[in-house]
Amino acid sequence: MRVTTGRLHGVVAMDGPSGTGKSTVSRRLAAACDAAYLDTGAMYRAITLAVLRAGLDGTEAEAEKVAVAAVGDLESVTDPAAPAILLAGEDVEAEIRGAAVTGAVSAVSAMPAVRSALVERQRALIEKAVATRGGIVVEGRDIGSVVVPDAPLKVYLTASEEVRAARREAQDRKAGRLADHGAVLADVRRRDRLDSTRKTSPLHAAPDALVLDTDHLSVDDVLTELLRLVEDRGMVT
Ligand code: C5P
Repeated sequence: MRVTTGRLHGVVAMDGPSGTGKSTVSRRLAAACDAAYLDTGAMYRAITLAVLRAGLDGTEAEAEKVAVAAVGDLESVTDPAAPAILLAGEDVEAEIRGAAVTGAVSAVSAMPAVRSALVERQRALIEKAVATRGGIVVEGRDIGSVVVPDAPLKVYLTASEEVRAARREAQDRKAGRLADHGAVLADVRRRDRLDSTRKTSPLHAAPDALVLDTDHLSVDDVLTELLRLVEDRGMVT
């Protein structure tokens, strides 16, 4: 596999639905180019956890207030070697990957006030990382379309529903969570529908994003392609 010795300058925007391998390749790309790494999905998940802990399910009007307030309690650690998300100082990484948060996150992330508060926070984190480290790989659903529309490299990863569900299942098993194929596939479909039909910044590829279908690509294949792209665009020195 191609290995770069260069350092990333600027922002790589990585978007796409769940199960496309976005997190794994984004984190590895950041590590390979000595860049920061930001998982924006973890931020939406952590504030969803705050909503659930308040005894709400994410559909109530009150949930929006609780979620926006929770944005102030978030802390994202952007080191690709040990990324973390803290909610009021507590590391919630394991809890935000569970079924309860996964079931409620799309409803919470569809709330316009939640999105604008989180986008503002994400832009500040990105600006800081570029100023201190030079470059950052940011993954999510709206990074190339809304958060950093002028990113010099935008990639949109796709894969078929079946492949994405199989990858989610493998991830769940590895993390010791119960994984049933039918349930995981249904959840992938439900989240795709909610994320791509919401009014505020729905999931879609930015017009200038490079679309990569990962159905028949391994993580190493995708990473090799991304390293080629950042080098070709003069983003590593
Ligand atoms: O990437 P992950 O599956 O952890 O994201 C969880 C959820 O957070 C997504 O299904 C989506 O509803 C929301 N999300 C979003 N915008 C982002 C990142 C995630 O709406 N930039």
